[in-house]
Amino acid sequence: MTNTLFDALMGPHRGSERVFLILPDGNALSYADIDRLSARLANLLVAEGVKPGDRVAVQVEKSPEALALYLGCLRAGAVFLPLNTAYTAAEVAYFVGDAEPAMVVCDPSREAQRAAFMGDSPAVLMTLAGDGTGSLMAGAAEMDDVQEPVERGPDDLAAILYTSGTTGRSKGAMLSHRNLLSNAEVLTDYWRFTADDVLLHALPIFHTHGLFVATNVLMLAGGAMIWLAKFDAKQVMSLMPRATSMMGVPTFYTRLLDQPGFDHALAGHMRLFTSGSAPLLAETHRAFEARTGQRILERYGMTETNMNTSNPYEGERRAGTVGFPLPGVELRIMEGGAEVAAGEIGTIEVRGENVFQGYWRMPEKTAEELRPDGWFITGDLGLIDEGGYVSIVGRGKDLIISGGFNVYPIEVEDVIDRLPGVLESAVIGLPHPDFGEGVVAVIAREKGAELEEQAIIAALADRLAKFKQPKRVIVVDELPRNTMGKVQKAALRKEHEGLFA
Ligand code: ATP
Ligand code: MG
Repeated sequence: MTNTLFDALMGPHRGSERVFLILPDGNALSYADIDRLSARLANLLVAEGVKPGDRVAVQVEKSPEALALYLGCLRAGAVFLPLNTAYTAAEVAYFVGDAEPAMVVCDPSREAQRAAFMGDSPAVLMTLAGDGTGSLMAGAAEMDDVQEPVERGPDDLAAILYTSGTTGRSKGAMLSHRNLLSNAEVLTDYWRFTADDVLLHALPIFHTHGLFVATNVLMLAGGAMIWLAKFDAKQVMSLMPRATSMMGVPTFYTRLLDQPGFDHALAGHMRLFTSGSAPLLAETHRAFEARTGQRILERYGMTETNMNTSNPYEGERRAGTVGFPLPGVELRIMEGGAEVAAGEIGTIEVRGENVFQGYWRMPEKTAEELRPDGWFITGDLGLIDEGGYVSIVGRGKDLIISGGFNVYPIEVEDVIDRLPGVLESAVIGLPHPDFGEGVVAVIAREKGAELEEQAIIAALADRLAKFKQPKRVIVVDELPRNTMGKVQKAALRKEHEGLFA
């Protein structure tokens, strides 16, 4: 029997005593250990009535067992459906109602709220704590550690991954075995991952970055991962000497740069640092290189497509860009129904084996964003320069139209970020009685800096065209971000919606 994704990930490593997961307490699990664990879990799923194609919704802390559960779902032919650990019981209730899983796995501390998130769902409820305790592993311990993976082909669903909900309600992206495998194969090759790699893994595994980009790639390569429950700059630094590579979101890099001991001696031996999920400031890129001698490799992807573009492994990693379309991924920039010329801004569309099967139970949304000929309308605005490098300019939904003119927030943010005392900024459009939308800058100040609204507005007066200049400036200590380091512009717009009223 074949099981497209599982066979590719685990097939070559069955019975291998090679180290797969290195834990911070000094313990390690081999590929054979994870193979057996996932077999027990698959047997448990089947015993609990989970059928091929059934969803298994999982909201648990990151642990080796949680990763084994992902693999156990693949083996049992189930559709793995991870949920952000930050979601409240009421939020989980929405996903349980929407996805109709056959099984829900939650943290034991959540069990008391069972009624709040299970509603009238008939799903089996099991628990898994960050230390591996709970009913799930207790049940798995009773099971056989051998299991014949259920037949699954390239077009069968492997996972439903909900989008981060940055622009609205999260949507369930249906990802097939082929979607995930094709992208992992391309990335393994493009980023030169091999069995000698040890990846510092501090990303959450309820999101495509930590789950698919990191774990699928390392398994295909046969490498190991230092498996950290969360990102802690000091812990990451203490383990870096054992690693060859790290995948991170931009905040990982800014936090590492905040540490005085983070330097060339500590990071110079690393083979690769990648960044994605949110824009990496060109300034962070430069500061990182100055401190460590390493040029971070930035790439661009999304829940619906896995990775679309990447800066090159060899060749110039250009700060502020997300590099070239990956092999097998077509990318075009569209405006008004036609492709734009080099250097012009438009909506990014992508096509390839990486592109998802549609949004779970949202046929209208799927039809709006996925063209019949396979092109997916990402909703991101970008451009391709003369050299073929793609840059993300922002999201279509964050574009500001003020007095009939398009204002690209990133352009204004770049100018503001260079002012003294400014740590970073988020430029948003708020309803304005005369202009439709008024440009507003929310600015995070550097520690101890004094920033004054009128002084900033005055400083921008000769640096930006009048229609791009913020009409108001709001100074804060910190921009709101979610766990993936994405600035929550929708939340900022909501918080300040009445500013011009
Ligand atoms: P939702 O679709 O629910 O609003 P989301 O788009 O934030 O949420 P994800 O799929 O997690 O959910 O994120 C994908 C988005 O992240 C991309 O569409 C893009 O806007 C952004 N992104 C990813 N990588 C980069 C990058 N390197 N630079 C800039 N933006 C990036
Ligand atoms: Mg999105």
